[in-house]
Amino acid sequence: MSFVTHLECSSCRKTHSNQELLNLCECGMPLLVKYDLGRTQRALRREALCLRSASMWRYQELLPARNAEDIISLGEGFTPLIRAKRLASRFGLKKLWIKDESVNPTSSFKARGLSVAVTMARALGAKKLAIPSAGNAAGALAAYSAKAGLKAHVFMPRDTPAANRIECEALGAKVTLVAGLITDCAKVVVERGSVEGWFDVSTLKEPYRIEGKKTLGLELAEQLNWRLPEVIFYPTGGGTGLIGMWKAFDEMEQMGWIDSRRPRMVTVQAAGCAPIVRAFEQNQPRAEEWLGASTLAAGLRVPRAIGDFMMLDILRESRGSAVAVTDEEMMEDIRLVGGSEGLFMSPEGAATFSALKRLLASGLVSPDEEVVLFNTASGLKYLHCFKGRKQDEG
Ligand SMILES: *Cc1c(COP(=O)(O)O)cnc(C)c1O
Repeated sequence: MSFVTHLECSSCRKTHSNQELLNLCECGMPLLVKYDLGRTQRALRREALCLRSASMWRYQELLPARNAEDIISLGEGFTPLIRAKRLASRFGLKKLWIKDESVNPTSSFKARGLSVAVTMARALGAKKLAIPSAGNAAGALAAYSAKAGLKAHVFMPRDTPAANRIECEALGAKVTLVAGLITDCAKVVVERGSVEGWFDVSTLKEPYRIEGKKTLGLELAEQLNWRLPEVIFYPTGGGTGLIGMWKAFDEMEQMGWIDSRRPRMVTVQAAGCAPIVRAFEQNQPRAEEWLGASTLAAGLRVPRAIGDFMMLDILRESRGSAVAVTDEEMMEDIRLVGGSEGLFMSPEGAATFSALKRLLASGLVSPDEEVVLFNTASGLKYLHCFKGRKQDEG
């Protein structure tokens, strides 16, 4: 059922077998999944998709699971693409869409990547899984590991919101809090992993999470009737969604599902942690670690990303952009979008709207362009961000 041929290093291009449990290439860089797209094209017509289940596994020929019985699913993906008409008319925009990822299992789009990663890790023989996480990835790993009957070991910064910690514990994971940031959590996973027998499912340190995130791009194309928008705003941490969508666009073009036109891709980060924005502005091929990272948007608190070079390539190749917005702007825009569209966004999701306002003001996006924003998680996981606000103001 799957048309995977092999894995290929994103940097040195060395090929690897897809029958083994692997993390990185020997050169230390991420591995990507390659398909026989000619065979995939013959096996799957895009017109046949309408008969498939309303989950991201509707694209199973473009995903790596070898048998349907292997799939660990909680109904992730195929989320609504909502036309934000009131917000659009307020800002003079013609066509604005919000892809609402808050309706995924565990209330964030991390579900997509971890459904595929846990599916493949179990099929290839892993017994214990470990992850460093700023919060939402840990919750998703806990959920899919429980469903798969595997043990999840999650490592989160000590100041990770209670919602994330409690969720992981309720879903049966072993939670360890680490003094420091996600990068410090990653060090603990590496140090203890081989002794403990953990398989590391960190962002881009195994090949399959990105395949799950790739379905964001497949869904956008299907939901827009096989064309793509002109601009996509993506709240960027490790960058799997950005890299995954771009991979999906290439695969769809090779299968004749879409043409060669691409959206301009815009990375949105927090002013308190914006390594990709800085590297983009300085025209660097890689991003230096951001020191003293601090933002309420936990999903964006990623000071260093192993896939930085791929993200920067995509931003440049698409003639896109990179924008840093403040926590105050995000929190304000949660209310603005919420009151106009009835969507309770996460700070990361709202950041995409703050960034859109900036690019409209600077003329980098014009009001008649079709724009897609991503609400990557539910605001309900971020109630702690609203504490201290006066209850009866205004
Ligand atoms: C992880 C996360 C992001 C960033 O996603 P990447 O694919 O790591 O760039 C954005 N928003 C939320 C809510 C997240 O949990």
